[in-house]
Order: sequence, then structure tokens, then C-alpha cells
Amino acid sequence: MSGSRDATREWRVEVDRNRCLGTGACVYAAPSIFDLVDGVATVIGPVDGTDEALADIVAECPTEALRLVRSGD
Ligand code: SF4
Repeated sequence: MSGSRDATREWRVEVDRNRCLGTGACVYAAPSIFDLVDGVATVIGPVDGTDEALADIVAECPTEALRLVRSGD
């Protein structure tokens, strides 16, 4: 079961609400995936774990509030 075709189902982004400062950088970079709700980043769209741009957004969060994880991990 490798399932690269199921990338959007196998991955998710976790937001550490205690770390997010609501800079909006992730929302600006990927408005189809992130939105700000009550000043905190919230995942609103499907996540493709093979998307390098998304991996960069996660890595560049200034407070390290984002984590790209496999569902089930
Ligand atoms: S880039 Fe990081 S700190 Fe800024 S809104 Fe997104 S999760 Fe929050």
C-alpha cells in the first residue's frame, strides 16, 4: 500500500494553536489550504504531502506551528 495517488488522503497538516501567532504567512502562500479563524491558522483544504511548496510553507512558519504528518502516524 504505497498509494501516492492517495496523497491528499494520507497527509494532513497539524496546527499548534498555542504556537501560531496568526501572521497569515501560510494563508497568503496557500489560501486554498489555510485560513485564519479567530487569528489562528486553520486547515481548510486537502493536503498533498508530496507538494514541495506546501512542505516549504510548513518549514517556513516563523513559530514552527505547522507540522506535516501522515494520517495514522
Ligand atoms: S505561518 Fe505559522 S504563525 Fe503564521 S499564521 Fe501560519 S501557522 Fe500561524
